[in-house]
Amino acid sequence: MIIIMEQNSTEKQIGDVVKSVENHGMDAHIYTGSERTVIGVIGDTVKIGINGFRSMPGVENVVPILKPYKAASKKFNPAGSTIKIGNVEIGGNKLAMIAGPCSVESEEQMMTIAKSVKDAGADILRGSAFKPRTSPYDFQGLGEEGLKIMKKAKQATGMPIETEVMDTRDVAMVAEYVDVLRVGARNMHNFDLLREVGKTDKPIILKRGMSATIKEFILAAEYIMKEGNHKVILCERGIRTFETATRYTLDIGAIPVLKEETHLPIIIDPSHAAGNRKYVPSLSKAAIASGADGLIVEVHHEPEKALSDGPQSLTPVQFQELMQQLRIISTAVGRTL
Ligand code: PEP
Ligand code: MN
Repeated sequence: MIIIMEQNSTEKQIGDVVKSVENHGMDAHIYTGSERTVIGVIGDTVKIGINGFRSMPGVENVVPILKPYKAASKKFNPAGSTIKIGNVEIGGNKLAMIAGPCSVESEEQMMTIAKSVKDAGADILRGSAFKPRTSPYDFQGLGEEGLKIMKKAKQATGMPIETEVMDTRDVAMVAEYVDVLRVGARNMHNFDLLREVGKTDKPIILKRGMSATIKEFILAAEYIMKEGNHKVILCERGIRTFETATRYTLDIGAIPVLKEETHLPIIIDPSHAAGNRKYVPSLSKAAIASGADGLIVEVHHEPEKALSDGPQSLTPVQFQELMQQLRIISTAVGRTL
């Protein structure tokens, strides 16, 4: 349920409501909006009902949530949440651009790409050190060595860094190195991993499973949030359909639906959806025009030599051109880049 406080409710009144929620054995999450404070109550609210809270001083209204997701529900923060990563904010007026190679391959590769995407105006550097590959014989990533390289790229460019974490046993170690943890599409249903990243204080990019419905996607976010970490960034990356002309089918419709259902920022991965760099600019532009809060794009300076996902990686020049095109689109939809 959601407890909406009166506009002029006092700190004490808010504190009393939180205490009362906790005394009932439930968790209270406070959202301080520009006009009023909203308290989200997580737990078995059926037992206590809403009337007790309704009569407490400073409470304007109590609204039950009938949806299966609670913390992620739009009702918790109708204005939409913004998530801060260093100086970057995801979910605000300014779009967030995350760019970099699919995999960390070497220090030289990472430094070259990091500098080029930074110069083009990217906000956050991507790169995977742990790779979920279809074949066990394909490049599996450099592991912790790759994270050390990422950290050097951060020091050299000043950009925050993000990377995928695949294993619950690695979460604490990976969180030591990077600013943002990514849960990949294949792990969206790995509930132990969701719970584990939910125990960290790092923002989490949660990718939609390739066969997951939007409801399942939001419930995966709910797993992370239930552990106390509300810094979840949803990422649509294409779903599996009968179509084979693109690697996956980018579900643009997920953007307005997620915007309606949740308060979490949503970014789009046009690279894995397209599977081919030719289609990446179109999907990127459609995403921004449809209300996405940012993109995560694969870029490689020598895509033909890339150890993973070369065909879908933009060259630095192509990424720079894309940024220019996106500036026009972002202005048209009232956002900045
Ligand atoms: C990735 O972003 O590196 C990745 C592996 O993508 P996905 O999990 O969406 O397949
Ligand atoms: Mn990739």
